[in-house]
Amino acid sequence: MDIRNTLIIGSGPAGYTAAVYAARAGLKPLVLGGFLMGGQSGGQLMTTTEVENFPGFPEGVPGPELMDRLRRQAARFDAEILDKDVVKADLSRPPFRLTTDDAEYLAKTVILATGATARRLNTEAETRFWNKGISACATCDGALPLFRNKPIAVLGGGDSAMEETLFLTRFGSQVILLHRRNEFRASQIMLDRVRRHPKVSIKTPYVLEDALGENLLEKIRVKNLATGAVEELAANGLFLAIGHEPNTSLFKGQIELDEAGYVKTDGHARTNIPGVFAAGDCVDHTYRQAVTAAGMGCMAAIQAERYLEA
Ligand code: NDP
Repeated sequence: MDIRNTLIIGSGPAGYTAAVYAARAGLKPLVLGGFLMGGQSGGQLMTTTEVENFPGFPEGVPGPELMDRLRRQAARFDAEILDKDVVKADLSRPPFRLTTDDAEYLAKTVILATGATARRLNTEAETRFWNKGISACATCDGALPLFRNKPIAVLGGGDSAMEETLFLTRFGSQVILLHRRNEFRASQIMLDRVRRHPKVSIKTPYVLEDALGENLLEKIRVKNLATGAVEELAANGLFLAIGHEPNTSLFKGQIELDEAGYVKTDGHARTNIPGVFAAGDCVDHTYRQAVTAAGMGCMAAIQAERYLEA
């Protein structure tokens, strides 16, 4: 079996940027971009609307277009890209062994760029109304007829919650933003836009108690944490925007992870295993930006190149 120089797991900004750099360095990288695991290849930006803060796009760029551009850039320099999920990884000794549903690959270096996935509440109400009013992706589901001119709620206090709230104002009759604290993590500019929007009302500090409806979601029961008062709000949609979990379960027990499951690196994309590098949201719970993920992907590829040279 061929032993590849560099195998990259993941196809978000970190994975594709690593592919551009590794390919330009002549390493002929293989990208196993993921398919079902992240919902689709291309990572989280595939379900984002406008990306306004990626340098070089003064007018903004839709997330899927940015990912398509990055993919084409990697392909142009002869990175091989396969939309397959890695289902097993053996990082115990080089060459490292990565398994997909239908093949096995060996590689001298591996770059982990598996990203993160939207967090769920894991409550019975969430399970009952999942895809029947409750969703974690406004971009994917917001335009469904089910939500047209109906009241919609959003849960969360970060930038994702702000983005989803603003996006959903296009479809819903009103959007209620619920957050468990009075302070928001979201950036000021996004929060200001939400506060100014005539269709949005903000309720803090509130948590979700239950979800109600015959078959589809009709109401949510929420609790004001300051007063203890419980109330029911009409809501045909509830969109969760409550953060992310790193996609690192494949590497658990093999590579050093922190308490939250993120891959530990030395700050230069090196993990505790020589020859295994990591980049992007599977490493980073602080910045979590497309541009920082891309930067880390670049670092990981340069480190892989140096490792192979040595
Ligand atoms: P964050 O971790 O920033 O925010 C998650 C929010 O969900 C927090 O407000 C948190 O509350 C709340 N939360 C977490 N768990 C629960 C729970 N079980 N029940 C209720 N609420 C809960 O995640 P985001 O996805 O919003 O953002 C991630 C990163 O991506 C950030 O760095 C952000 O800046 C970036 N981003 C940037 C965008 C842009 O610039 N266009 C768009 C979207 C994201 P609490 O605050 O109390 O912990």
